Amino acid sequence: MKNTSIHPRKKMYKGVIFKAVQNLGQTTRVELSTKLGVNKNTVSTIVDELIYEGLIKEGGTVSTKNVGRNPTNLEVDPEAFQIIGMSISADQIILTLTDFHGKPIHTELSKNTSHDVDSVKNKIIEMIRNTLNQFKDKKTLGIGIGVPGILSDNKEGIKYSSHLKWNNVELKRLIIEELDMEINIQLNNSVKMAAIGEIYQSSVTNKETVFYCNIGHGVGGSIVIDGKTLEGANHSAGEFGHITIDPSGPLCNCGNRGCLESLISSPNLVYLAIEKIRSNPDSPMNDLLQNSIQAIEIEDLVAFANKREAIAVEIIRQAGQYLGTGLSYVVNLLNPDRIILSGNIVKAEEILFESIKTELRKRCLPTSLQTIQIESSSLGTFAVSIGAATSVIYDWVPKNNTK
Ligand SMILES: [Zn+2]
Repeated sequence: MKNTSIHPRKKMYKGVIFKAVQNLGQTTRVELSTKLGVNKNTVSTIVDELIYEGLIKEGGTVSTKNVGRNPTNLEVDPEAFQIIGMSISADQIILTLTDFHGKPIHTELSKNTSHDVDSVKNKIIEMIRNTLNQFKDKKTLGIGIGVPGILSDNKEGIKYSSHLKWNNVELKRLIIEELDMEINIQLNNSVKMAAIGEIYQSSVTNKETVFYCNIGHGVGGSIVIDGKTLEGANHSAGEFGHITIDPSGPLCNCGNRGCLESLISSPNLVYLAIEKIRSNPDSPMNDLLQNSIQAIEIEDLVAFANKREAIAVEIIRQAGQYLGTGLSYVVNLLNPDRIILSGNIVKAEEILFESIKTELRKRCLPTSLQTIQIESSSLGTFAVSIGAATSVIYDWVPKNNTK
């Protein structure tokens, strides 16, 4: 008698085919069959099931020179799920609700004035509840949260965060207990989340080695290889901000001297600007000091640099030298395809990038620089929250409940 049940191996293909559609963006049954080396009938059966479950959808046809029916386009259905992505930083909490492609649908921002664990947790819960009440029609796939710190060994909490002054905070458990609902929660370091967002929401391919670096209140990095962030033995891979640049430099939050973070973090650059303005009272930047020292922000420094004001240009150029020196270690070690930079000072791109490239040319093997691309982040302020949602999306695989 003929066996009509689906071969167990076919069930295995469900996740593989879904992932391929997700990674290709738009594809066809024929392309999937060719790329995956799976026969056309198996691909068609599984694609039909994924369409039936509302996970992928058909849309339009692809013109070909071949005789016969044009193949139908397939893509992940953006309406299948919604996802919550959150960014916790020292000064604000951002929530971005995205569709199943990771495109933002809704955003909420809240000031993070107290770093007390309970107040931060309560704010997170309030923002999640508000959003879920407002968008209750669609199923929520999960919640991704980016936190500035190092994850605990089990990835359930934060072992240490210098920005939030947290030690051993079981954030995931605290949120699950309070929410009282079954939902997948993913926690990771903010910069790693941002890197995931940047990779999957742009033209970067999975094959590229990417170094993502954020320069803000702190300086963090993330190494992405084969579409995954490198975690390291204790989840601290990519702690780029604590590379020593000047052994006799200023004291860093970590206790070391002359870390990259102690030299180019926003507070340090603002401090430098104030010092320089005081000794150059004729500078047009002096107007900023008329009211109070707090009147100067990193955005002002960047705006003046872009207007080619001498003090601001000098500070950004020097930051570029320090950053370029730090990046030269990364380039010599990893030979990345791409370096993506984010943070406010990146808005002074022309001056900063020129300075970085000069340092790289001085300090790296020419071979390592042959094809490297250095660019600014495309996601900007929402990189962490969009990345956190994206990490939930790309980590999810449909269940093999094949007919
Ligand atoms: Zn340090």
